[in-house]
Amino acid sequence: MADIKVLICDPIDDIGIKMLREAGFQVDLKTEIVATDLIKVAGDYDALVIRSRTKITKEAMNAGKPRLKIIARSGVGLDNVDVEEAKKLGIQVVNSAEAPSNAVAELVLGYMLSLSRNISRGDASMKRGEWIKNKLTGFEINEKTIGIVGFGRIGFLLGKKTKALGMRVLCYDVMIEKLMNFVNDVGAESVPLDRLLAESDFITIHVPLLPRTQHMFNAATLTKMRKGSYLINAARGGIIDEKALVEALKSGHLAGAALDVYEEEPTGNTELVKMENVICTPHIGAESKEAQLGNSTIVAEKLIKALG
Ligand code: NAD
Repeated sequence: MADIKVLICDPIDDIGIKMLREAGFQVDLKTEIVATDLIKVAGDYDALVIRSRTKITKEAMNAGKPRLKIIARSGVGLDNVDVEEAKKLGIQVVNSAEAPSNAVAELVLGYMLSLSRNISRGDASMKRGEWIKNKLTGFEINEKTIGIVGFGRIGFLLGKKTKALGMRVLCYDVMIEKLMNFVNDVGAESVPLDRLLAESDFITIHVPLLPRTQHMFNAATLTKMRKGSYLINAARGGIIDEKALVEALKSGHLAGAALDVYEEEPTGNTELVKMENVICTPHIGAESKEAQLGNSTIVAEKLIKALG
């Protein structure tokens, strides 16, 4: 099978590369390849493997034909692949959306504990040489209410974990009728969005970025959130209107926020990043060893199945 050639355009865990080679594929690594070079070489490969860095444009796909058969995105989301063009050209597009779910759910747990007990603020204050113990009285998440918006893979896992920590779990999802087994498994309550907004101490977002979810959390939505509550987004930038979030935090309506994703990446919203009651991380939701290993293995398995 040495005539099957795979180009790895972004770094993936070695395990997947080993699996592909063991399956007899020729695997080339060009993990810093730029768009113009990709167009030159795409036609030499049966498959391209990417993460979020490499964009697979209409031009790259057309340059890949007739040989290019499959594009594998390690991770979630296909924002960087022209999926419509792929359909037209008969190029299969796969990803490993299932791999990072637990990593994201655990990150959100970390945010909640840090926000409620001022862990990040306490750490930052000590690094400044301060001892502000009396200003850092927090609260316990036990018996508080979490509102999970989007009850898919990540939302469900987070529901299980937060229920186990003693929280009341509310959830909202446009496909909720199909998800009732999961809702019941968690012991969550499925509620309309407005009720979730009004009753939750923490709201965490786990929907995809779609025209319908763009700025789903805007000034109107944020106003409906309980005063003194917290908003978490480890889904996609653009689901929260960041200007409106800044206002809601400045006015004190929201007590704090935790963000992994931003309307503009890299860097993130500079005003939010500087706020003391906001925890910011640079899109690390899937950055666990286990998730990366899972991404790489799943992508390799899918390629072997499709081309082997
Ligand atoms: P999923 O597809 O399993 O679940 C998404 C859920 O959102 C579905 O149940 C869907 O019905 C629901 N939904 C869609 N539109 C909705 C709307 N308008 N209102 C309410 N619910 C709606 O996805 P997942 O694997 O759980 O991932 C969720 C999000 O997390 C995605 O945006 C994904 O890109 C993001 N993500 C981020 C990272 C990171 O690094 N921070 C890593 C992995 C996933």
